[in-house]
Amino acid sequence: MKPIAENPLLHSMQASEMFLQKISPGSNPNTELVVSSEGGVNRQLFKSAVNIRTQHFGNEVYPRGVVEISNYCNLNCLYCGMRKDNLTINRYRLGHNEIVQIALSMEQHGIKSIMLQSGDDYTYPIASLVKTVHAIRKETDLRVILCLGERKRADLEAMLKAGANMYVLKLETPNPILFQKLRPSTTFERRLNQLKFMKKIGYQISSGFIVGLPEQTHHEIFEGLMLLKDLRVDAASVSPFIPNEGSPLKNEPFGSLELSLYFLAQMRIHLQGVYIPAVSAFSLLHKDGQALAMNAGANVITINFTPKTNAKQYLMYSEKRNPVSLERARELILSLGMTSSILQIN
Ligand code: SF4
Repeated sequence: MKPIAENPLLHSMQASEMFLQKISPGSNPNTELVVSSEGGVNRQLFKSAVNIRTQHFGNEVYPRGVVEISNYCNLNCLYCGMRKDNLTINRYRLGHNEIVQIALSMEQHGIKSIMLQSGDDYTYPIASLVKTVHAIRKETDLRVILCLGERKRADLEAMLKAGANMYVLKLETPNPILFQKLRPSTTFERRLNQLKFMKKIGYQISSGFIVGLPEQTHHEIFEGLMLLKDLRVDAASVSPFIPNEGSPLKNEPFGSLELSLYFLAQMRIHLQGVYIPAVSAFSLLHKDGQALAMNAGANVITINFTPKTNAKQYLMYSEKRNPVSLERARELILSLGMTSSILQIN
């Protein structure tokens, strides 16, 4: 299946009908919002989501900078090109000084948080990670978000003590059986327990789901939203499934843009004042995909500061990845008539 290249609303009716067939009546309190009176599918739902976002965040887009510090990974998730068994990519690790320099540059550009992201790279020395988190907190006003996969409790505690604020650990699917099929080297329970542990010791936590995974049902995704609510996440995300050339799922169809936007809006409605990024995967389905995600209730844009040669090798979700530059983020925010700290700096 090819990515959708034109107006996504043309496809919305079909997507929502499909959705409604799968969800039994009464199981979703917002089902009536799916179809508006003039047949404009999802329009009322998106409007409600944006109203809620405005109540919590005004007209402000929160800019988050990401630096992908390592593309090594010990796991073998079926949908991911960075999986351990993919021997076709060049692996890299960024060092302490380079990361701190990037953090300083982010701050100069009006970024508010730095996200240090990697695969499940257990050989990246924890002492170095702790030192880097500490230095960023000491030398900048950036909040530090970590997205480093499953980690030992002692490591999580050490990074929190060094000043880390938030940890992102996506569940990807709330169905433990599907999770086990797609992520054979780990378990759903283990990941869930890490999220609970991090919340307990004082991290803000973030999690989320991929929409359109093989064998996934829409009902499951709703259950996932409720799970995130129970976990009291501080941030959450929805990403459409993008088949990755370097993964066993390379021939599966793309996730639906409409359903991903639909669940993003539902996420905003159910989780209210959490941070929700308009992830770059949306732009792989539609040239204005991230604008559509903002118009469905997202309030965060993640801007990529990984050195270009390394970013080409960070193939978590797709070889066709489309990292967001500062310039593109500014254009997006201006086109939406929204404000952000990255617009106030030349
Ligand atoms: S999704 Fe994450 S943990 Fe899984 S193979 Fe990719 S980088 Fe590793």
